[in-house]
Amino acid sequence: MSINPHKRPITDVTGIGEERAKLFEGLKLKTVGDLLEYFPFRYEDYKIKDLQSAEHDERVTVIGTIHSEPSVRYYGKKKNRLSFRMLVGKLLVTVTFFNRGFLKKQLTLGAEVTVSGKWDRHRMTITGTEIHQGAIQQEQTIEPVYSASGTVTSKMIKGAISQALKQFGSEVPEPLPEAIRTKYKLVSKHEAVTQLHHPTDQGTVKQARRRMVYEEFLAFQLKMQLFRKVQREQSSGQAIEVDQKILKTFIASLPFPLTNAQNRVIQEVIKDLASPYQMNRLLQGDVGSGKTVVAAACLYGVICEGYQTALMVPTEILAEQHLESLKGWLEPLGKRVELFSGSLKGKRRRELLQDLADGTIDLAVGTHALIQDDVVFKRLGFAITDEQHRFGVNQRRQLRSKGEHVDVLFMTATPIPRTLAISVFGDMDVSILDEMPAGRKPIETYWAKHDMLERVLGFVEKELQQGRQAYVICPLIEESEMLDVQNALDVHQILTGYFKERFAVGLMHGRLSSDEKDEVMALFDQNKTQVLVSTTVVEVGVNVPNATMMVIYDADRFGLAQLHQLRGRVGRGDAQSYCVLLADPKTENGRERMRIMTETNDGFVLSERDLELRGPGDFFGAKQSGLPDFKVADVVHDYRTLEVARQDAQALVDSNHFWKDPEYQWLREYLETTGALDQGKLD
Ligand code: ADP
Ligand code: MG
Repeated sequence: MSINPHKRPITDVTGIGEERAKLFEGLKLKTVGDLLEYFPFRYEDYKIKDLQSAEHDERVTVIGTIHSEPSVRYYGKKKNRLSFRMLVGKLLVTVTFFNRGFLKKQLTLGAEVTVSGKWDRHRMTITGTEIHQGAIQQEQTIEPVYSASGTVTSKMIKGAISQALKQFGSEVPEPLPEAIRTKYKLVSKHEAVTQLHHPTDQGTVKQARRRMVYEEFLAFQLKMQLFRKVQREQSSGQAIEVDQKILKTFIASLPFPLTNAQNRVIQEVIKDLASPYQMNRLLQGDVGSGKTVVAAACLYGVICEGYQTALMVPTEILAEQHLESLKGWLEPLGKRVELFSGSLKGKRRRELLQDLADGTIDLAVGTHALIQDDVVFKRLGFAITDEQHRFGVNQRRQLRSKGEHVDVLFMTATPIPRTLAISVFGDMDVSILDEMPAGRKPIETYWAKHDMLERVLGFVEKELQQGRQAYVICPLIEESEMLDVQNALDVHQILTGYFKERFAVGLMHGRLSSDEKDEVMALFDQNKTQVLVSTTVVEVGVNVPNATMMVIYDADRFGLAQLHQLRGRVGRGDAQSYCVLLADPKTENGRERMRIMTETNDGFVLSERDLELRGPGDFFGAKQSGLPDFKVADVVHDYRTLEVARQDAQALVDSNHFWKDPEYQWLREYLETTGALDQGKLD
């Protein structure tokens, strides 16, 4: 009888006793299955390299003869360096190995060896990582390298895995049903596991990897989709049937036609509201794609069905602006919109709270002030958060708890790459606004060095003369001894002097009180100040369509996503807008990021590139990402497979076969053994 290796203790492998088992446990390897699925993190490629054509710093493998007696130098407590001369073809090179002095006794003058390592062209030296006696055979051209730790060496792991494969390789179960394997031409799991550990060549490794990536993603997506299904079906929601005629009236009252994407997303939300499940939907739309009016249409529809609604935003400035837009759209249609922010106090606050509890306020717009305990709705049916990434899980939950079975829509302008959205928000429905309102011209972005400031200011002045306005963004509020970057106070002073009586310069930063911020913002909104020097507090949501120019100091200090958010403050009207990035990046990565900014206006493209440059952990911060550790798969590079796996998982979860057919038994059992079926929510 064959036993699933995941149910065998690692000590079943010959040569692994209690002591070794303890060591392996440090690598989280407890079962034979864990060991068999401990895959190499890279392969040493022993393709023989001609040193003449090898690049500096390239990884090379060469065959040659030992040309000088190997010598070892000891220094420090445990450090040593082994080196010898080696004749490779007609080249005499130096080979060094660090802390591998013990190799000396295996090396004899004149013997043939194969050495792999990093080639230093200038010093004619190879810093070795591997050495083999004799010339390697052709079929041994690639060798797995395992990530080792502490006392567990890569070699020890290699030995243990070989032994495990010999004993239990044939017991590796096949979780994927035949149909799926045939459809995607995937090799069997047994084959994949064997090839990953004992590769024949790069081609077979690739096929083995392809199969494991699909399996990992399918398991992950099955878990997400199962969770989502259960959550949806257990949550009792309310069905809110929005009247299409009422929606039409609202849309007709707008001063502009909606984009197709806006209309589509409104319908997606309306359909979701009408279902008896609780809505848990994410609306992604690039900056300027017009999310606010989509929100307004849905809110209006729900209000007309007799419910109260709420819109929560992260800053006071944004709350004020949303209040203004929403009042403008909803009040003429007889709906009451009120603001709940931190500055609401005393008698006025008591009155508004009373009206909210009585149900006479239809839409409450506000900051965190909305989720305070004494804020009580009479009948909250639908809530929206804007810039949802600024809120924590708890705040979102609190908002939901302000009513019974509240449907919630989360809006975000952070263009989370589709790949990550699928993984991270696999338990949410996602709507995407992927179209800009007509007539928008793409923002022209330039990258300039700081010493070109004069010319940049000339450019700004020209725009101002046309009656336009400009933002100037600085990373800091005031001078810092630690950082050599521009600060808003200094820049404000410099620009006030520069523009003199011609144009007025405002100053905005996070240390102003909210009244002061409102005042500064109002002056800019009314074009009483033409230039606004600011820190990143204007990053989210602010909407002044007459501002067509943005200059960002020390732009390389910001992430791509943040630069894109900032840049999104311009280009919000019909006029051509410009963004100038002032930066002298010191790294190639920094320069690359500036170039990317000048090349695309598409937030989704940017975030994909950002993800590539930074990696998924950094994009959200490792903890926030909620991404599981995949053994083989990589969400960035394998995102196409992730998408395929998601669709397959959804179909499987929705089909009855999955739960009954013997064909899926291994998959079901496999999900159980990997804990997928009982793991909690990712939130
Ligand atoms: P964001 O998605 O960044 O929150 P907003 O909702 O603030 O974008 O919209 C940006 C600007 O575009 C606003 O001035 C808004 O009134 C305007 N707008 C929204 N939809 C359209 C449309 N379909 N046609 C023209 N202008 C639009
Ligand atoms: Mg917005």
